[in-house]
Amino acid sequence: MGEMAKKVVVLACSGIGKTWGALARETAHELVERVRPGVATTICLPRLVINDPEARRLVLEHPVITLDGCPKACARKSVEVLGRKVEQALETIQFYMAHKDLKPDGVAQLNEAGLKLARVAADELAATVDRLAAGEKT
Ligand code: SF4
Repeated sequence: MGEMAKKVVVLACSGIGKTWGALARETAHELVERVRPGVATTICLPRLVINDPEARRLVLEHPVITLDGCPKACARKSVEVLGRKVEQALETIQFYMAHKDLKPDGVAQLNEAGLKLARVAADELAATVDRLAAGEKT
């Protein structure tokens, strides 16, 4: 297996103008940049929407966690339309339901509670990333 086989794709919805979408993007960023750099990776969702070959290959060949900002589940459905069931599909409000003391707000920039919630969510997802990177199921 090559280096790419260890990658886990964390795909956030674009969620423009929505706090929960901003939380999805920030959580993905935390996972890729701080919590599991070199293991978790991400791509811009629109690349899948335009059928970019490299983006397609990434989600077809690696475990995928989707983070969506609402029940429309754009990230999850963008993978499923390729005939691929994601390993873990999450809606970001779930993180708030588990941590009601951290109420996110803001769209372009999350408030301090939202940024902290993204850090907490990314920390909690680390074990899932590790399992998927090791070839286990969630
Ligand atoms: S899942 Fe909801 S918040 Fe995210 S891009 Fe789709 S419609 Fe927007």
